[in-house]
Amino acid sequence: MKVFKFGGASVKDAEGVKNLSEILKQYSDEYPVVIVSAMGKTTNALEVIVSNVLYNKAELEASIQVVIDYHNTIISELFLDVNHPVFCVVKTLFDALKITLKENTSTDYNFVYDQIIGFGELLSTTIVSQYLNQLKVQNTWLDVRDYIKTDSNYRRANVDWDATEQLIKPLKQNHSIVVTQGFLGSDFKSTTTLGREGSDYTAAIFAYGLDAESVTIWKDVPGVLNADPRYFSEPKLLEQLSYTEAIELAFYGASVIHPKTLQPLQKKGITLYVKSFLNPKAKGTKINAQLGITPKIPCYIVKKQDILICISSLDFSYIVEENISDIFNILHLFKMKVDLIQNSAISFSICIEDVFNNLEHVLDHFRVSYKVSHVSNVSLYTVRHYNTDALDSIKKDKDILLQQRTQDTLQIVTK
Ligand code: ADP
Ligand code: ASP
Ligand code: MG
Repeated sequence: MKVFKFGGASVKDAEGVKNLSEILKQYSDEYPVVIVSAMGKTTNALEVIVSNVLYNKAELEASIQVVIDYHNTIISELFLDVNHPVFCVVKTLFDALKITLKENTSTDYNFVYDQIIGFGELLSTTIVSQYLNQLKVQNTWLDVRDYIKTDSNYRRANVDWDATEQLIKPLKQNHSIVVTQGFLGSDFKSTTTLGREGSDYTAAIFAYGLDAESVTIWKDVPGVLNADPRYFSEPKLLEQLSYTEAIELAFYGASVIHPKTLQPLQKKGITLYVKSFLNPKAKGTKINAQLGITPKIPCYIVKKQDILICISSLDFSYIVEENISDIFNILHLFKMKVDLIQNSAISFSICIEDVFNNLEHVLDHFRVSYKVSHVSNVSLYTVRHYNTDALDSIKKDKDILLQQRTQDTLQIVTK
């Protein structure tokens, strides 16, 4: 069995939905399970709605209308018959969104977020499924919340693997294309989400439960490149990667693969393909248990908007294990993602990503016991398999705040 994942960029407009359908037609005999993300930047637009319903009611109506207009434009281009059932189903979803917003009494941002944000994926999968119907491509639309079960850690829910595997397994017998949502789950009562960009991970969860032969994530790039084309010129395609190499790249921030995607695939030896939805016949990147990376060239990763924090003792005493444990408890408490650590006798530096907007709380806690300084909006460059040329090019014209090297990996923090 094959699992496919189509991200927001692949369904950002009517042309995208048509293109996705053309790709699926080629595989319709194989009954793939197809995971779809919210269309284009819908998740960002829904985040604005969440913020407005909690903190800025005056802007709420207008922000809902942005999402409605965007989807209505797409369906009016895809379905020329104004009586097509899609218009009714999509309107029902808009109404459900409005009711959820109106009836919400919770002030828990993370909980409210998960109840609202999932409408992006519910809308996109409904539209894709209905469009396939229109083309007479047989498919079954599923609500992923009936399959992926999680704890109640809203916005970054953890999968209940036993329950999820049991629920997904029967789909092995399915005899049509399955269309379902990425990113969402359920804690048995309410909607949960798996973390931003989590649809790649959804594909891996399904592949794991189905013992699939492969997962293909269809992207707007030819495959995994040795650098992000947004920030580096002339990146090269990596034809083959081991799971380990891919996990390392994703961990350091190569955002083409969500970092949680690889572990379930590696456990069951399921191959991951990263391919271009613009050029579906091209080979793309193959990720499997084979060792190494082909071609073996330096790989560049940059994470923007990290924060560099430098912590030292108030009285010139050493930073010892007890202090480090204390520092990490605080980081853990506020769900900070630690990207780099460096310590010396009296100071400890960390480069972190503040996903949950908790920086001020963290700094306040640190200030109770330490001297603290920080620099926001730093860039963390990582080069895997660096050589002298790579080293020189990455350091050129940059104000270097911190540097760290292992045999394989070079990391530089710059402002
Ligand atoms: P999706 O549509 O599935 O959400 P993403 O936007 O998450 O797709 O991932 C594709 C993007 O990842 C590319 O457009 C590219 O800018 C970025 N990217 C970052 N690092 C890499 C890399 N090493 N190789 C390819 N693309 C990369
Ligand atoms: N729609 C979600 C997001 O934009 C999940 C995903 O696209 O992977 O984060
Ligand atoms: Mg994405």
